[in-house]
Amino acid sequence: MSKMEVKTSLLDNMIGVGDMVLIEPLSEDTFIENLKKRFDHNEIYTYIGSVVISMNPYKSLPIYTAEKVEEYRNRNFYELSPHIYALADEAYRSLREQDNDQCILITGESGAGKTEASKFVMSYVAAVCGKGQEVNKVKEQLLQSNPVLEAFGNAKTVRNDNSSRFGKYMDIEFDFKGDPLGGVISNYLLEKSRVVKQPRGERNFHIFYQLLSGASDDTLKKLKLDRDFSKYNYLSLDSATVNGLDDAASFRTVRRMDVAGFNSEDYFLLLVAAVLKLGNIEFKPESRCNGYDESRVKDKNDLKEMCELLGIEQSVLERAFSFRTVEAKMEKVSTTLNVAQAYYARDALAKNLYSRLFSWLVNRINESIKAQTKTRKKVMGVLDIYGFEIFEENSFEQFIINYCNEKLQQIFIELTLREEQEEYVREDIEWTNIEYFNNAIICDLIENNKNGILAMLDEECLRPGTVTDETFLDKLNTVCAEHQHFESRQSKNSKFLTDHSLPHNCFRIQHYAGKVLYRAEGFVDKNNDLLYRDLSQAMYKANHSLIKILFPEGNPAKVNLKRPPTAGFQFRASVGTLMKNLLTKNPNYIRCIKPNDKKAAHIFTDSLVCHQVRYLGLMENVRVRRAGYAFRQAYDPCLERYKMLCKQTWPHWKGPARLGVEVLLTDLQVPAEEFAYGRSKIFIRNPRTLFFLEEKRSR
Ligand code: ATP
Ligand code: MG
Repeated sequence: MSKMEVKTSLLDNMIGVGDMVLIEPLSEDTFIENLKKRFDHNEIYTYIGSVVISMNPYKSLPIYTAEKVEEYRNRNFYELSPHIYALADEAYRSLREQDNDQCILITGESGAGKTEASKFVMSYVAAVCGKGQEVNKVKEQLLQSNPVLEAFGNAKTVRNDNSSRFGKYMDIEFDFKGDPLGGVISNYLLEKSRVVKQPRGERNFHIFYQLLSGASDDTLKKLKLDRDFSKYNYLSLDSATVNGLDDAASFRTVRRMDVAGFNSEDYFLLLVAAVLKLGNIEFKPESRCNGYDESRVKDKNDLKEMCELLGIEQSVLERAFSFRTVEAKMEKVSTTLNVAQAYYARDALAKNLYSRLFSWLVNRINESIKAQTKTRKKVMGVLDIYGFEIFEENSFEQFIINYCNEKLQQIFIELTLREEQEEYVREDIEWTNIEYFNNAIICDLIENNKNGILAMLDEECLRPGTVTDETFLDKLNTVCAEHQHFESRQSKNSKFLTDHSLPHNCFRIQHYAGKVLYRAEGFVDKNNDLLYRDLSQAMYKANHSLIKILFPEGNPAKVNLKRPPTAGFQFRASVGTLMKNLLTKNPNYIRCIKPNDKKAAHIFTDSLVCHQVRYLGLMENVRVRRAGYAFRQAYDPCLERYKMLCKQTWPHWKGPARLGVEVLLTDLQVPAEEFAYGRSKIFIRNPRTLFFLEEKRSR
């Protein structure tokens, strides 16, 4: 049979090919056609070697049952059809048996299914690891952290009804037997601007709606809240209820969780209520004799109630909305706030109150899931972080998110190649270098200590004098664009795109996932993330112990004139720590893809999928995997599968499996350059050879 025929019959295979490295010929079209065919048959998982591609089915599939868990338990990765459980099993076994710390990296755009995937991984591992009362309690606590974090950190967006608005990394810790001991969660940059304003068609964080819909009348009375969403400025109304989301039921679930002490205490709900009250405080101008307007609280009822909730003296907070103390040269000067500044201050306080509450909650969850032993632990990290975001116009948040994705891509490249290389060395096979696009220069453009974009932004933010988004942009243009003339095409500044079609106040970066246009507006402010000291001091004076903890800088005894680190600086530091952590672990990848923009089952939009395949770098991934040897298999299963093709090996081969495979391949007259004999595996260069064997088997 000709090679052509083999290829066609395999691609015509009803449900498509389970491993993309076996597609022949390989092109974007055949890649997508394969995904589509599998998707149409509810085969949502496909491999690229050991990487799992996961398509969001947007419907519930019967593939996560206890029986499925049993089916995949202790089985070899390639033995059964592709499944996220196979990856979870492989990672867990390697952790338990080979003492290899693991990390599961889940990437993909909003709505692609990352959070669901992370939960499937966690529940699989929980199902297969250890038994007993103590262990079950640990498992329960680990799993309980999800609904709590989702209530506070997720929101309905146009892309996803349950969109995570923070990045999450969770280390699950095990003892030497593989029993779970506990865990540690790190959270990354909550999208706090959502607290005060939501884009059209989107909601604020779930907890607000859950609280108002699900709390008892008694609780609401204590919190001085009304059930009616429309009473609150911070709650957008155009999509306050979401199909398929039962806020009241979610609230009851969250309240039942003892992981964060929800079931015993209400006191952080007070803070949620306070944020809603804060949003209702409005201001009016009062003319002063010097001709300036000074801000005054319009109707004091919400202010009063908020202060009662938090135990703050009303006059202190009220003053902080009209005046601001500026400290210059050891002197304190009081300046007045106009109405716009008062609104700015109010929103800054709300954002800080909420995001600090969120971080505090994560710490609190960490306290309760912390391993109770100091013995050495084996660790499985699960990363569920926001994917690349490319809107028509992008802001500081997208810039930060995309930077994080560049870094993840960077370790993906480094680790996949390193993995490949290491496997070749382990197996004693000659390694040939592979050409690939390395995005290190884009990371450098953003994070270089001296003249990276984040460093320049910080420099602007800390510079005395008038600093605006325009001065920041000027600086970028001067430094990045001018140096282009002197540098090679492979320098970082070549990724800072300058052309005359750029809209006003914008800059463009060539990310590995595509060109992204950023509007500089808001960069300086969001990076500064300033909260007037008068407000933090007012908070610190609260008669509520948690508020005091959340605003330590308000402590007058600790007046520190040094500015807190900027948002960009903090993010860069935490991403740096995360990367270091990931690099010490064995990576496992889940690449999530969203089939359509309608959140609908059964629709596969080619162009949308194609876009994701491109920016996830999946084609590159297949190429790297195929560059040397496309396929590899341990000798035993290989012989077992093909021994029927050769008289000498059928029905029983008595010698070592490796020799058996050699005999078999020689007998079949497969050209020698098609194979390499590793220490424990046979490496097959071309997928066609594998098809040839498979065809022979099925004849
Ligand atoms: P974001 O970046 O916005 O947080 P995400 O990648 O985490 O997005 P998910 O919240 O995991 O996306 O998935 C979005 C929705 O898609 C889920 O709420 C669920 O309805 C559906 N979904 C995702 N994966 C699956 C699956 N394997 N089976 C059934 N439905 C799924
Ligand atoms: Mg998510």
